[in-house]
Amino acid sequence: MKEKKFLILGIIVLLGMFFFLGKSIIFLTNNQHEETRSSVNRTKQSFRKETFFSRKEEASKKDTEQTKKVDQIKKIVALSFDDGPNPRTTIQLLKILKEKKVHVTFFELGENANKYPEVVKQAQKEGNEIESHTYDHQDLAQLSTDEIQMEISKTDEILKKIIEKKADFLRPPYGSVTELAARLINRPIINWSVDSEDWKTRNSEQIFQRIIGTVYDGSILLFHDIYPETVNVIPQIIDYLYEQGYQLETVGELLNHPKDGKVYYGKGDSRFAA
Ligand code: ZN
Repeated sequence: MKEKKFLILGIIVLLGMFFFLGKSIIFLTNNQHEETRSSVNRTKQSFRKETFFSRKEEASKKDTEQTKKVDQIKKIVALSFDDGPNPRTTIQLLKILKEKKVHVTFFELGENANKYPEVVKQAQKEGNEIESHTYDHQDLAQLSTDEIQMEISKTDEILKKIIEKKADFLRPPYGSVTELAARLINRPIINWSVDSEDWKTRNSEQIFQRIIGTVYDGSILLFHDIYPETVNVIPQIIDYLYEQGYQLETVGELLNHPKDGKVYYGKGDSRFAA
């Protein structure tokens, strides 16, 4: 009986061992597969991770670059308005500029500033630059020394009474300036690099198309705040420029310490009058 018991026990142990061995073999084989699979997975995963991280890295690099672009490269334009002030259209423009939080540069005619000093005062109070566009829009190249002197000094006196300082810049009518006029102006002379041609088209849609087709980084944009067609399209132009990543600054902010008697067309774009 005892031997039979041992035999049965032995068989059980043996079966158990086979079972265990079999299990182990299956486990090992499975494990190997598992290993291969997981290593494939790991490669896939690490590849995915790498791609994800590199994408993330790329994205954050792009972000930094974009931030840098705004901070360092500073895509910038200056809006300038000539021939005012006008009690209707300039006031309408000032309201838009205030709403959009944009400061611009006004080149005022002495004779108009004399008629509407309150408009000039408001424009200055709201953070805009007030500059000279001479007294009554004569072509300085056609005038005598005395006449040029009168165009400059008469406007200086009028503006000084209103804004309590001399105009820092002067824009000659038609952008026309000789060496003699430049000497008499004796301050930075500001022309423009992008002409809205509002004086020519007097059409809001065409003014908009002209700007979006010709604007570039560092440019000075020329408008006239005496035309309703110009003022009406300014909100659309400001929105477009912001969408394109431009910073809108005054001429004084755009040009870093411009020199007296030199003619400026845009940022880094100046020459001496010939
Ligand atoms: Zn003008």
